[in-house]
Amino acid sequence: MSGGAPDATERLDQPPVDDAFLGSDEGNRAYAAAADAATRAVVTATDRATPYSGADPDTLRDRFAGRRVLPERGQSVEETLGEVTDEVLSSVVGVFDPDCVAHLQCPPTIPGLAAETLVAGTNQSMDSFDQAPAPSVCEERVVDALCDLLSFPAGADGVFTSGGTQSNLQGLLLAREWYCRERLDCDVQTEGLPADADDLRVVTSEAAHFTAAQATAQLGLGEDAVVEVPTDDGYRMDPDALDATLADLTAAGCRPFALLGTAGTTDHGAVDPLPALADRAAEHDLWFHVDAAYGGALLLSERERSTLDGIDRADSVAVDFHKLFYQPISCGAFLLGDGSQFRLQDRNAAYLNPEADDEAGVPNLVGKSLQTTRRFDALKPYVTFRTLGRERLADWVEYVVDLATAVGDDVRDHPELELVCEPQLSTVLFRYRPDEGDPDEINPAIRDRLLRAGRAVIARTEVGGTATLKFTLLNPRATRSSLRALLESVVEHGTEIERERST
Ligand SMILES: *Cc1c(COP(=O)(O)O)cnc(C)c1O
Repeated sequence: MSGGAPDATERLDQPPVDDAFLGSDEGNRAYAAAADAATRAVVTATDRATPYSGADPDTLRDRFAGRRVLPERGQSVEETLGEVTDEVLSSVVGVFDPDCVAHLQCPPTIPGLAAETLVAGTNQSMDSFDQAPAPSVCEERVVDALCDLLSFPAGADGVFTSGGTQSNLQGLLLAREWYCRERLDCDVQTEGLPADADDLRVVTSEAAHFTAAQATAQLGLGEDAVVEVPTDDGYRMDPDALDATLADLTAAGCRPFALLGTAGTTDHGAVDPLPALADRAAEHDLWFHVDAAYGGALLLSERERSTLDGIDRADSVAVDFHKLFYQPISCGAFLLGDGSQFRLQDRNAAYLNPEADDEAGVPNLVGKSLQTTRRFDALKPYVTFRTLGRERLADWVEYVVDLATAVGDDVRDHPELELVCEPQLSTVLFRYRPDEGDPDEINPAIRDRLLRAGRAVIARTEVGGTATLKFTLLNPRATRSSLRALLESVVEHGTEIERERST
């Protein structure tokens, strides 16, 4: 063939790529250059005075209006990253900024970020040993370390998850399967729900995360199957109320099968009395799941860990690493006190994990997970733990717990602010107290203005049906004085809104 396009056969010996993949010299150089540009873009994004640009949704939509997402022909990665730096990174929320205190969204540690680069660059998939050999064994090691941290008995096991939502679903899924197989002689995995599924109940506190109801619905039981136990004045499940609830359910012929305790509620940071819950679970033949998505990190601290006493008696536990363990999203784990319970969800696929492999001692992580293709997220805590060590991580957890207590004192001492409840874990719930006007309107408006001004990212929620402001303190770079200044900004905006409304 003379000139022009090579014929079809020749073409298949000339791959249509040059530097878009790792593996060739050009590709490896291009990777290093792109990674360097990306690193610089991240540093630029963190190098600003406020936690948010203040841009509203319409302004952000306009920014993208002229951008074709899938153009016919592309451009250099440097050009694309330049655009993304201007249009996206300029208006991300600054999770590194001490005035970003709204949610359980942490500043990730640098070792965790370095590990994220390894996870992405090597693209291992945890669903079979031949897609992730050493990573499978590494995840098993990290899971063992977590089981030790939980003081779980020998034989405990676990798996990494996308976060608390998935871990809570898995806990309730195994609970339902266990109960139906053992008590109702029904294998739900094969046969579907039993005839008396309508009687099944999940018992949790009124302060539990919404994913308890979501998971129960997804399991085909309906949200109405969730029975909420009242909490005490610290928003912890009240054991006497739990006794009353269980007695009522039994009297009504219901079948409570799972008790879901929370170690660190999202709004209040409250930890349920886990030993009392473990006792009730044992007495009433309930699967005991503990949602420690937020509070699990207290186990790192010798000073704080007794708050979670009793967690070792759980059947299953949810822990998030992308909260108080300071890992990049997403990173969570689901742990079982008795690892053999994973059989309740196990399945063998000929192409991934044939039964013969189980006997040969090949790690079988797909059998423990709700996912198939799955990231090697376990590497992030592994690299972070090895690099920083327990003591430093524990120090940060203690620091933010102490900071919350101190900020609570500052709120209490402020004539124009009201502390809604004593700080627990690292959250502070408070309100601005207007002289005139409706606090239920003014408080959310304060939060909106702080965001729009880019001054701070704080949360609004409701406590007892009343609008409430919230700081979730995760950032160990925040200080008591930076937060005092933020409280003053809250008051200034509150005063201003009040004045505007009264004229
Ligand atoms: C964050 C959180 C969840 C949800 O976890 P994701 O990681 O967001 O999926 C569940 N429960 C509690 C108590 C949480 O704080």
